[in-house]
Amino acid sequence: MLRCYQVAAFGKPLVLTEKPLPQPAGRQVLLRVECCGVCHSDLHIWDGYFDLGGGKRVVAAANGSLLPLTPGHEITGTVVSAGPEAVQAKAGQRRLVFPWIGCGTCPPCRDGNEHLCAGAQQAIGIFTDGGYASHVLVPDEQYLLDIGSLDPALAATYACSGLTAYSALKKLGRLHADHSLLIVGAGGVGLNAVALAQAMTGVAPIVADLDPAKRAAALQLGAKDAIDPRADGALKALLKATGGVMAAVDFAGSDTSFGFGYGALRKGGHLVTVGLLGGTATFSIGLHVMKGLRVSGSYVGSLTELRELLALAQTTALPPLPITLAPLDQATASLEKLKAGQVVGRIVLEA
Ligand SMILES: [Zn+2]
Ligand SMILES: [Zn+2]
Repeated sequence: MLRCYQVAAFGKPLVLTEKPLPQPAGRQVLLRVECCGVCHSDLHIWDGYFDLGGGKRVVAAANGSLLPLTPGHEITGTVVSAGPEAVQAKAGQRRLVFPWIGCGTCPPCRDGNEHLCAGAQQAIGIFTDGGYASHVLVPDEQYLLDIGSLDPALAATYACSGLTAYSALKKLGRLHADHSLLIVGAGGVGLNAVALAQAMTGVAPIVADLDPAKRAAALQLGAKDAIDPRADGALKALLKATGGVMAAVDFAGSDTSFGFGYGALRKGGHLVTVGLLGGTATFSIGLHVMKGLRVSGSYVGSLTELRELLALAQTTALPPLPITLAPLDQATASLEKLKAGQVVGRIVLEA
């Protein structure tokens, strides 16, 4: 049997459901779930909407028509069986699932950017049943990645929070040693970025977060400094200490976090914005032009980028992200903890 914890009604406790094990067809692969990270996006699916700011909302799970839906898109597991057309998947292989699956035929999908699919998205745990379960059916073996000797709980977080951090930092490129990098927001994704920053940009980041526990975690992961952006004169002090930062990533996405990241940029600076807290922004177009600033949006990442991240993690000593393991039957309680802002790093469910 397949046991799963499903969103049956938005905002209500997840419901334990049992179904017969699916039989993989074509190039499909059935995995026994080992680990599944609990992501902030799971909260949006649970609540039923993503807040776009200014009163605009995107309703999750296709207006509820996909309910009941099993969340969970940070999945490692072991291959149980594969369809007759699968050539690489073999029973017993331990794999990480790339969940950001698109239609495969629209222009972004054809460019290898399935995470930016403009057609019928099939992202696992968002549009199709995910990893809060004993088993998950993956639509094609090409979405399975070998994690080598990586810890399966840590590797699970690479499918979303790690990949999101990787893709955002990659947009900044390598920085000169005397340039500053600011990371706003040290939740699960932000901390993954702190862990990756030195290896990817060549610079240890300055981290801004309201929560002292998250600032402490950031310092442990190698942040150069950790500041409270709400402290009196925090932005002024940062500008004075750095002369303005050349690169910033906003992992929160609120009016204030964007304002802090954007306001911290020096001439020629680049802000990558990632968080989905529902902020809106206004800024002077004239100053934006004269300072030669850049703002980029970054949403999760591509299959190629996830391969690059796994290769980096296997060849570079990255500081370990704090992970709290919890049994699968703690799925609802874990979402509640995340919602209350009580999670430092990642909760990973063990099936
Ligand atoms: Zn996620
Ligand atoms: Zn597509």
